Amino acid sequence: HPPLCAPLVAAMFEDLESILVTEQEIRERVAILGQEITETYRDADELTVIAIINGALLFTADLIRQIDMPVRVDCMRVSSYRNNTSPVQEPEIIDMLRLDLRDQHVLIIDDILDTGHTFMRVVKEISKLKPASIRFGALLEKEGRREVEAHPDFVGFSIPDQFVVGYGLDFAERYRQLSCIGVLKSELQNPPSWA
Ligand code: 5GP
Ligand code: MG
Ligand code: MG
Repeated sequence: HPPLCAPLVAAMFEDLESILVTEQEIRERVAILGQEITETYRDADELTVIAIINGALLFTADLIRQIDMPVRVDCMRVSSYRNNTSPVQEPEIIDMLRLDLRDQHVLIIDDILDTGHTFMRVVKEISKLKPASIRFGALLEKEGRREVEAHPDFVGFSIPDQFVVGYGLDFAERYRQLSCIGVLKSELQNPPSWA
């Protein structure tokens, strides 16, 4: 199953307990999302895409190449994890945007919608900048985990409540380079060195 990638990356697939979304499935879904987004903004001249980094890096890079209109890109760094695998209620904005968003159509992109706190926090901050519209897209959405109301406009895949890595999603900054999304083996999720 390891896709075309460097041998040492291919070896990382051994750390996965299961693969939830394959590289091929991601590629096909991203193309469809690109079409949906293009259609949604067909009357706009331009779209500003805001990637919540680091997690949305790979998804955003692939997605913007499937959006058939002029796009501006900026990033926002938000920290939501106190330790490596459990989210906090009040995510912190560590690095804010550079672009002026006034009267712009803004699409916020994250890797995964879990409790919804990151979504709430980012939308609150972006709203202050008076854009013409705000929409939200996430590659993944975890079922049954929402703590606040969050209705994403674009979603790639719904997945069960398991900690996943790959295609931008990390564990301690690792595994982002995997081209599929999978569940990390449980014995690798809490090594004593991270406790
Ligand atoms: P929320 O604020 O919705 O609870 O969490 C969203 C953020 O938590 C995402 O941007 C992502 O960084 C992180 N996150 C949530 N679930 C997972 C997961 O299963 N794996 C990884 N690697 N990150 C996750
Ligand atoms: Mg994140
Ligand atoms: Mg992370």
